[in-house]
Amino acid sequence: MSVTVSPVLLPVPLDHPLDYRSDAPVPAGHIVRVAIGSRETVGVVWDGPPTGGVAAGRLKPILGRVDAPPLPEPLRRFLEAAARETLTPLGSMLRLVLAVPAALEPPPVPLAYRAAEGGGPPRTALERRVLEALAETGRLPAAELARRARTSRPALARLAEAGLLEVVSPEPPPEPTPDPERPGPSLSPDQAAAARALVAEVERGNGVVLLEGVPGSGKTEVYFEAIAAALRRGKRVLVLLPEIALTAQWLERFTSRFGVEPQLWHSGLTAAQRRKGWRRIAEGRASVVVGARSALFLPLSELGLLVVDEEHDASFKQDEGVIYHARDLALQRARLEGCPVVLVSATPSLESATAAGAVPGGPPARSGWTHLVLPDRWGGASMPTIELVDLRRERPPRGAFLSPPVRAALRAALEAGEQALLFLNRRGFAPLTLCRACGHRLRCPSCTAWLTAHRLRRRLLCHHCGWSAPEPEHCPACGSVGTLVPSGPGVERIADEARSIFPAARIAVVTSDTVGTARAASELVTRVLAGELDLLVGTQMLAKGHHFPKLTLVAVVDADLGLTGGDPRAAERSFQLLLQVAGRAGRAERPGRVLLQTHDPGHPVMVALARGDRMAFLRAELAEREAAGLPPFGRLAALVVSGADAEEVRGLARSLARAAPAVEGVRVLGPAPAPLALLRGRWRERLLVQARPAVDLPGYLRDWLAGRRVPSRLALEIDVDPVSFL
Ligand code: ADP
Ligand code: ZN
Ligand code: ZN
Repeated sequence: MSVTVSPVLLPVPLDHPLDYRSDAPVPAGHIVRVAIGSRETVGVVWDGPPTGGVAAGRLKPILGRVDAPPLPEPLRRFLEAAARETLTPLGSMLRLVLAVPAALEPPPVPLAYRAAEGGGPPRTALERRVLEALAETGRLPAAELARRARTSRPALARLAEAGLLEVVSPEPPPEPTPDPERPGPSLSPDQAAAARALVAEVERGNGVVLLEGVPGSGKTEVYFEAIAAALRRGKRVLVLLPEIALTAQWLERFTSRFGVEPQLWHSGLTAAQRRKGWRRIAEGRASVVVGARSALFLPLSELGLLVVDEEHDASFKQDEGVIYHARDLALQRARLEGCPVVLVSATPSLESATAAGAVPGGPPARSGWTHLVLPDRWGGASMPTIELVDLRRERPPRGAFLSPPVRAALRAALEAGEQALLFLNRRGFAPLTLCRACGHRLRCPSCTAWLTAHRLRRRLLCHHCGWSAPEPEHCPACGSVGTLVPSGPGVERIADEARSIFPAARIAVVTSDTVGTARAASELVTRVLAGELDLLVGTQMLAKGHHFPKLTLVAVVDADLGLTGGDPRAAERSFQLLLQVAGRAGRAERPGRVLLQTHDPGHPVMVALARGDRMAFLRAELAEREAAGLPPFGRLAALVVSGADAEEVRGLARSLARAAPAVEGVRVLGPAPAPLALLRGRWRERLLVQARPAVDLPGYLRDWLAGRRVPSRLALEIDVDPVSFL
């Protein structure tokens, strides 16, 4: 008997496939069951020749094929590229695709019945009801038949045994598909021009388009046209959105444009929804998938378009486990699928803006990149004016955080029957609790972090590791009772202050603590739209995706909040967030007003916001990055060594640093304690690698780290193009 040897990639942290034998060849992409050690797992038959090295006779066999469609070839190539770019073992990459093991089992075929041939006329009332129900449709699923005939499934089973009914498989339910021919809104000339350009990209089948436009300019309407174009060509579409922008409002718009809901993919799905959804996608029954970053690893085939909406959003970066940036990898996937990508944003990342040649005075567009702009808000609504409130002069009352101008603006909006938003990107009541007697500050026992006071939950919480405890009655340092006081504001505290100023106002706190689920979020949106709330106090939960026509005032409690820390993108991100929050004000006919409380009104971010001069900010920021060799004029990688023993951690970090190859255009900085020097009880030392754009940074890291062993007590995390600098 002839034996075939096939390389099989397993979803385990291995760089390469392992050889297995089978009696007949199994084509690449097929999902198979194999043994590894003493356990059974699934793997994917990989391309190329067997690894060799072990005689065929001594190899383990492929135990069987899994009854699921094979992984498409572009997806296999994509996993290889992603593994290379992120220095992740190929098997760990595969694991992201096979993330729903239950979906690999074919779904149980539900039972259906029809009247048996020669079953004879009904003899009882029950039999008559059953046959009447079947007379209409011929066959019915068991549950449906039981319902219509007002009986139970066991009773139906008895009728089948008695020969009155026959078991059949049910008709497959019709699969509704999005209809590209349903009419969309009639587009403005600018919108129509952008839509035509996007459709042309879809037809050409490659390229990267940066679609830029202020909030409300109709970017979504425009890329819906590109989706329609892809659907017309019989292709599938993947839309990536930040988790918190996956709102009911977005879905409703999609549904009203295309007639059916898209396939959703996010962390809030139930196990059953994930299983069904994955299967539906693998079987090619979902033509539009919209999801958070992990949707990039779904087994979609025949992609005709990839959209990354809110492309600048930091949440596209996954920074635990397999570390990757979904936007950057989306470009890779699209290239390998031969389909275009649309990056959408009101405030594109400096990286994308530079690549698309979108910064006046900056470098020209990279080849394959196009920049499309929607200049105005749709319907002529104007962007709100942004005013700075100088906190050094406009002091809030003692112990309070809202300045007189903000209070006056709130009063005016509320009296006019309009809605207002107080924005502070900080959950909880206070970011710090300290002792008035001895100055002790309460910190997390296992992180370098202060504990946040949460009054709604009556607990202290570490936002880094989730540790929590009731508020202590006495100071753990000096033992004084009643001396612990909250310091600084969180949204809960701002809401308290607002309640004390406007006792009649209907106020809601909007954070992941209060509206953590999709349902809670959509209920809140409904209440706001129905005018049941006057004032929202919230974090960046509120910054995206919602259109509240009656909301005319936005006040930012602490505009300086995001500007500190060692993050090279701090200014950029602050600017994006504040502009996005500002965009919540006055989206309909009503003009909006935005107040930013700041201690530093001369900061370039504040100046640019107040002048509405985004380009000036980008140019200045770009010049600074260029001078410092920071992205997009260079690449960074962070290597973080962590472990329970500080000495050991430092030892490994130092020996890594000593072993760094000297290469022109690469600098290795550190090791130094990471800003979060202790996280979840583990010490962290960081090395930063800075490379010129011409350097193949992943390649450099691979050469450096090849063959280097990390003791199992320690962990080495490699973050290429880091977004978080903690
Ligand atoms: P963006 O994605 O740029 O924030 P949207 O596409 O969400 O903008 O559009 C903002 C609002 O304006 C939405 O309610 C949208 O339905 C509406 N809108 C935009 N363009 C048109 C148009 N041409 N006709 C009708 N409504 C439009
Ligand atoms: Zn004390
Ligand atoms: Zn902690």
